[in-house]
Amino acid sequence: VERVVIVGAGLGGMKTAEALRAGDYAGEITMVGAEPHQPYDRPPLSKQVLRGEREPVFLAQPAVFGDLDVDLQLGTAAVGIAGRDVVLDSGDRVGWDRLVLATGAVVKTIPAVPQKGGVHYLRTLDDCRELAAALHEGTRLVVVGGGFIGCEVAASARALGADVTIVEPQPAPMIGAIGAELAALIVSAHEQHGTTVLAGTGVERIEGDDHVTGVVLSDGRTLLADVVVVGVGVRPDTDWLDGSGIVVDDGVVVDDHLRAGVPDVYAVGDVARWYDVRLGEQVRAEHWTNATEMAEVAAANILGGDEVHSPVPYFWSDQYDVKLQSLGWLTGADDVRLLTVGPKQKRVALYGRGGGLWGVAGLNAAMIVRKQHANIAEHVPLDDVVAALLAP
Ligand SMILES: Cc1cc2nc3c(=O)[nH]c(=O)nc-3n(C[C@H](O)[C@H](O)[C@H](O)COP(=O)(O)OP(=O)(O)OC[C@H]3O[C@@H](n4cnc5c(N)ncnc54)[C@H](O)[C@@H]3O)c2cc1C
Repeated sequence: VERVVIVGAGLGGMKTAEALRAGDYAGEITMVGAEPHQPYDRPPLSKQVLRGEREPVFLAQPAVFGDLDVDLQLGTAAVGIAGRDVVLDSGDRVGWDRLVLATGAVVKTIPAVPQKGGVHYLRTLDDCRELAAALHEGTRLVVVGGGFIGCEVAASARALGADVTIVEPQPAPMIGAIGAELAALIVSAHEQHGTTVLAGTGVERIEGDDHVTGVVLSDGRTLLADVVVVGVGVRPDTDWLDGSGIVVDDGVVVDDHLRAGVPDVYAVGDVARWYDVRLGEQVRAEHWTNATEMAEVAAANILGGDEVHSPVPYFWSDQYDVKLQSLGWLTGADDVRLLTVGPKQKRVALYGRGGGLWGVAGLNAAMIVRKQHANIAEHVPLDDVVAALLAP
């Protein structure tokens, strides 16, 4: 292999470059990134960076970057693939022997909230800086969508003294990801910190000419608003692959080795929908750890390995003083047990299917969650896990 081209200079792209070098790959690496910034970490953008508590976290210091010997082309988007060339928006072409697609995801928009002053999304560092500049003590913020990003933005904005309301059409924020039992505890955390949670109602339209002044809900109420943050999810960033021959279906479709249908092309991170041998289906994930693990698998396979990506998924979310951590598969559970564990009264939910353990999530319960890895991988009987956790 003489040249690996990585499209997307985010987490998955960077980790792929690092893993290639760690695997003693000595050929060329070219990484193309649409954003003007050095590759940075996204999780702090809804947390410490948004609150002004820390600077953006770059994924590699310049010195380390030098060691990686990556030809980094920033502020340049790939617009297509022509044979063994990636075509850039400048018209330049970069030839590849192996191609890694790591373009991540872009925010979804909703027709009820057209773009105007005061309307924000949060995916990039630039988004974060614009939102941070708009949030002050007393700012009336309406967060549309109570998913991970919406809930984290709400918590950070409260810490900045904003007056925050979350609007979520489902019966509770986060419910789709973690189930009703744990979601109820997250709602309590928001309410205890003074955030208003309006669940079971959607957004009909927003008011204001050039700048938002209010949000009209589907139940008829109107909320006064200075700032609206829309957090209704993301979609894989694949539009640029139209006509390339790469198969796209809610993400770049790859096999268990992360190979796209076209020879020598791989995909990693939020953009990739891989065949998970354990589940027997194509899946996509939008979490930090998954992008990192996919990068390692793709790099190993580019270097001649035979690695399969079939993880026990992990994610976390920080809201106020609550660190939510999750391991395994929480959706599709037919039995959810909410426990209070140990002398510190940790709240932990276990997610079962067909009598076995498939997932665990806890609030400030890192050790308990992490220790379930083997039990989840082997789907140990749920009753046994509950008994062990509740044993004195
Ligand atoms: C605000 C925020 C908070 C988060 N918090 C958490 C958390 O607490 N826990 C957790 O597990 N996960 C969290 N995540 C998710 C996690 O950050 C993502 O899963 C991870 O960044 C995915 O990495 P990626 O490389 O696939 O995509 P990205 O990080 O999105 O990187 C893709 C890069 O490709 C570039 N690109 C796109 N198209 C092109 C093109 N055509 N040409 C060139 N470049 C292109 C993009 O500009 C982008 O820089 C958070 C995400 C956000 C946005």
